[in-house]
Amino acid sequence: MEKKGVLSTLRFIFFTVFTMALIFSAVLVTILNTYKPAVKAYLNGKFIGYFSSEQQFDEVYNDLVTEKQSIDPNVKVYLDYEPTFETSYIRDSVIADQNVYTNLRAEIKTEYTIYNVAVDGETKMTFNTQDEANKYAESLKSEVSKLNTEVKVEKVSELGEMTSIERADNILKEIVDRNKPVETPKATVKANTTTSNVKTAQTIGATSVAATGSGIWPTVNRRINCQYMGYSGHTGIDLGGAVGTAIYAYRSGTVTFAGWGSGYGLHVKVDHGNGMSTLYAHCSELLVSAGQQVSEGQIIAKIGLTGYTTGPHLHFEVRLNGVPVNPYPYIAGK
Ligand SMILES: [Zn+2]
Repeated sequence: MEKKGVLSTLRFIFFTVFTMALIFSAVLVTILNTYKPAVKAYLNGKFIGYFSSEQQFDEVYNDLVTEKQSIDPNVKVYLDYEPTFETSYIRDSVIADQNVYTNLRAEIKTEYTIYNVAVDGETKMTFNTQDEANKYAESLKSEVSKLNTEVKVEKVSELGEMTSIERADNILKEIVDRNKPVETPKATVKANTTTSNVKTAQTIGATSVAATGSGIWPTVNRRINCQYMGYSGHTGIDLGGAVGTAIYAYRSGTVTFAGWGSGYGLHVKVDHGNGMSTLYAHCSELLVSAGQQVSEGQIIAKIGLTGYTTGPHLHFEVRLNGVPVNPYPYIAGK
């Protein structure tokens, strides 16, 4: 009896220890599988995220450099600070749930080189290749020798809209026409650059609204991220919005263009009659095609980041007889 009791006690102890060892190793395996060695990355003391290794940080950084270079292959990309790393053990889900691309993208600095074609000190066109700038500067010089035409190199942190070839051709023609021996007073008023010209453009706007009428906001968002002439050569207003957000036709009219253009990316042009037209740039998707009639408020495209842009937004232009003016005075319901 007593012997049997001792045996069963021993058996009990043996199985208890065995079971506990099993549970313990299972827990250990789970922990080892769940918590992985990682590095915490910081920039100037600011936490960026967890990376599986310092190498993975470099991979993410290089992806972002490639992303910037797809906008302009000559862009200079850098970080203001050297990253610092701390070892730590974290759950897999932490790595999966965070967004290191967004965090690191916010810290990345860019320097673009742009080439402005200046006529008598005023920037008339902006390109991101020196060849294009030289070509237009040379054409202007050869056609109107009295003008002081030069190419000015500028370093900017954000790349705005560059002058498309189509637009550059129009500007060139306009400058040449304006400088013909017999000048008409009308032809000397143009909306291009510098503060004095912005004023002129706004005056044109204010006086012509009655004649041309006004239209609706082209997006639900009415906050302007970058104003007309917010930087030299910015010929429209930028309205922020997530990729895929609806873009509405400002007024009824006829689509004159729906497709790709350098700088503007996917864009739509609508002719509203009376010399007024609008342009919607950087779209992710176009929902209309050239020749199509559209009505005011019709969804014609979706917000995106095609062409020269660093983030999703609608670049919206109002043009009077082909010349971009400040769209703001032409928008109803402000
Ligand atoms: Zn813009």
